[in-house]
Amino acid sequence: MTYEKLFYDGDWHASTGTETIPVVSSATEQEVGRVPRGTADDVDRAVKAARRAFESWSRLTVEERAQWLEKLAAAMKTRVPQIAEAIAHEVGTALGFATKVQAEFPIMMIGMNAKFIREAKLEEELGNSLVIKEPLGVVGCVTPWNYPLHQVVCKIAPGLAAGCTLVLKPAEMAPLSAFMLADAAREIGLPKGVLNIVSGSGRVVGEAIVSHPDVDMVSFTGSLQAGRRIASVAGDGIKKVCLELGGKSAFVVLDDAPFDKAIPAGVNNCMQNSGQTCSAWTRMLVPRARHDEAVELAKAQLAKLTLGDPFDKNTRLGPLASATQRDSVLAFIEQGKKEGATLAAGGGRPANLPTGYFVEPTIFANVNNAMAIAQEEIFGPVLSIIPYDSDSDAVAIANDSAYGLSGGVWAGTPERALGVARQLRTGQVDINGGRFNALAPFGGYKKSGIGREIGPLAVEEFFQLKSIQR
Ligand code: NAP
Ligand code: MG
Repeated sequence: MTYEKLFYDGDWHASTGTETIPVVSSATEQEVGRVPRGTADDVDRAVKAARRAFESWSRLTVEERAQWLEKLAAAMKTRVPQIAEAIAHEVGTALGFATKVQAEFPIMMIGMNAKFIREAKLEEELGNSLVIKEPLGVVGCVTPWNYPLHQVVCKIAPGLAAGCTLVLKPAEMAPLSAFMLADAAREIGLPKGVLNIVSGSGRVVGEAIVSHPDVDMVSFTGSLQAGRRIASVAGDGIKKVCLELGGKSAFVVLDDAPFDKAIPAGVNNCMQNSGQTCSAWTRMLVPRARHDEAVELAKAQLAKLTLGDPFDKNTRLGPLASATQRDSVLAFIEQGKKEGATLAAGGGRPANLPTGYFVEPTIFANVNNAMAIAQEEIFGPVLSIIPYDSDSDAVAIANDSAYGLSGGVWAGTPERALGVARQLRTGQVDINGGRFNALAPFGGYKKSGIGREIGPLAVEEFFQLKSIQR
């Protein structure tokens, strides 16, 4: 799975640099591919191509752009097995989950954006004004490794639909699916310069995109730390920024909830993709009187999530994506023990899996929300169970976080759950097992970000508004 060239201006081009980036399998620690380590000069060429392409792409009819998206989705569909395999290696996602969630789902979202743009209301009369939504321009996209294709699609599909042209830097650790997307774009003959991909490091290629004078908007998904840097660099150039950052989401289990359903659902949510999910419910808030019962149910559910090789069909949880990620998660676990939380399950590296970046799924009980394991985004399979004393106490604990990305509430009745959901300062809340919805806007309050992705409302991020008075 080696790609020797970058993709811009409608074709493959050798990097102006000579270095390459190894792509490593999280389960075997062996190299499975390589991509170019791009340079600022490569970025400049890609941005110029995007700028040239903007003229014609932004003037296509909505129907023409919708058809391009449908063609791109169709070309990507034929690549599902390769995409899933690549991501199972890169991220460690179990193959079955990788196929559905890492490959099929984002490909479906490409097609959905065709529908969104066809149905978008692009002009509106307001008093004596005609208000027009126009494509924003050249968009620089920088994405992380945990759901690599999904995060790319969340930017490029609405961006292309809206009439923008794009330059993308995928994560160093998981770049392969972006190259498969480039391959699909070339195969269908997507107009040149509309979609450009430059792999490389955040420090070099990422910064070159964010600071490039010809980039009008930056759409970033990743850590708070990098988001802060990107927002300030983009701010310097007065560029629009969309930031999808981290989370430390709370799942509030109310005293009348069916614990036998709610607790397992909460554990599954937290552990999805081995906890490497920005929206994961990593804090489980339970009534103090039922804390021990909740811990037992959580442990029983955790025992069902088999840890192992992502390519083994019995595996639910694979390894973490990298040695750095593993070591950082293990350090948080040590900190949780030191701070006095009760280690209820897991807590280290699994003895039976010496190779690969595995960490045992871990549960801490009797966690105080002030502890680091309740405040910091661990980005691994670590659940903190936190007791609360009343509904208002639960809401206060849930909101006592720098982040506000996601969350859940489970109650005896939907009305009661909704009442609590309304009080959470967070961009998404699932009540009583409500499922993920690909039409719903996704994004953060507070330090979880700025702007929204996913669904028809996300296309709006890629427009400028023009008012014409008459
Ligand atoms: P990261 O270190 O912030 O990296 C994200 C991307 O930004 C990578 O492509 C990275 O390049 C690049 N980058 C880093 N510094 C940069 C800079 N100064 N300028 C431009 N680009 C820069 O995050 P990560 O470790 O890959 O991903 C995990 C984080 O993403 C978690 O905090 C998670 O919560 C967050 N996340 C949020 C969402 C959401 O929708 N809210 C979704 C998924 C993940 P490299 O490839 O060189 O690292
Ligand atoms: Mg990183």
